[in-house]
Amino acid sequence: MKRIGVLGGGQLGTMLAGAIHDLGAEACIYEPDAAAPACARFREVVNAPWTDAPALERFFSSCDAVTYEMEHIDTTALKSLRSPTPLWPNVHVLEVAQDRIREKTFLEHAHLPHVAFTAVTGRDELLRSAASFGYPFIIKTVRGGYDGKGQAFVASAEELGPIVESLAPDGTYLLEEAIDLALEASVIVGRSPRGEEVVFPVFENVHAEHILDLTIVPARIPPELAERLQAIALEAARALDVHGLLTTEFFLSRTQGPEVPTRPGRVASRSVAAFGYHVYVNEFAPRPHNSGHVTRNACTASQYDVLARILLGVPVNSPELVGPGVFCMGNLLGDIWLAQGRVDLDLSCLREFPEVIDVVLYGKRNAQARRKMGHFVTQAPDADRAIRSAKAFRQKLL
Ligand code: ADP
Ligand code: MG
Repeated sequence: MKRIGVLGGGQLGTMLAGAIHDLGAEACIYEPDAAAPACARFREVVNAPWTDAPALERFFSSCDAVTYEMEHIDTTALKSLRSPTPLWPNVHVLEVAQDRIREKTFLEHAHLPHVAFTAVTGRDELLRSAASFGYPFIIKTVRGGYDGKGQAFVASAEELGPIVESLAPDGTYLLEEAIDLALEASVIVGRSPRGEEVVFPVFENVHAEHILDLTIVPARIPPELAERLQAIALEAARALDVHGLLTTEFFLSRTQGPEVPTRPGRVASRSVAAFGYHVYVNEFAPRPHNSGHVTRNACTASQYDVLARILLGVPVNSPELVGPGVFCMGNLLGDIWLAQGRVDLDLSCLREFPEVIDVVLYGKRNAQARRKMGHFVTQAPDADRAIRSAKAFRQKLL
């Protein structure tokens, strides 16, 4: 029986492990937190820190291939391993995706679209660069950020002072031009070592307070624009030589940012103009993605199925949309559990919502505000109805 290692046992790792099992293979989980969702579900679990090189060495040696479900992994130990078992996508891809400066620099060098940015270290440099960068901008920690954590929107010089006070004085940060967003989108690409390449349909993503809130498929953009985004995502996956999945997050704007004169250290933006939009790549995730949950319902193969096949060397077919109508995935955050005041979510209102075709709860016992605890999917004849019903269902749960 083939054995596939998954670094990380959150909800993405759990669903990936399920898809690996569905293909008759063993999924082995490596996860520092014994309370993570996958640890209770699968029998092959190693609970050890990312820095434990001997534990990682044994884990790799026991597997045929290893992948990861999130990019915030210390790569020092990974790079010291002697095991011939491959890590897909490889450690270079992981290092680009986990460091916002490397990620932006990669986009710049690969001639892929990106927003204007600059890297700063320490408060003095931050204050100096901010003055010339041009407001508004977003300041981001270089590593470890997710769901908008480690980010602050800075509208003006007056706002900067208190924000700088809250930052580590010697830290390195990325300053990024704030885009006037018309729409956000994501595209998942799968590439196998055998040269197969598949591209998922474009997902439209709606964020609330920097956290993914809704994913709508098909995205409400012209088909030609969707093809353009798919082509850029494929180009990025090829440039990074990804084996596995690469999710590319896009910003789409109706307006072009202000012309800021070239300044030392400030890398000017590069956008692709297409069908009335200016398109930028925001960031990459070389793994299954939150927006890709919807593929379990909306596509002929899910993102987990595609990755499992690539890892196991099973042929991968192009994942097509299944109809009819429009699908909308909504995240369920811990706030709902806190509002209900119970461990087991009360789902009795489901009978009032026939459009809700799927609910997945991740089995996290510790509800916290803004923590992703589950998701659901609606299906309706058009986008308005799919979205309206998703919002109404979630409101009813509160
Ligand atoms: P995370 O790793 O938390 O997903 P992102 O860089 O994707 O970090 O930021 C999360 C969300 O915050 C984005 O999806 C977008 O809604 C908003 N955001 C981030 N950067 C920008 C920007 N430069 N301009 C406008 N909105 C932004
Ligand atoms: Mg993001």
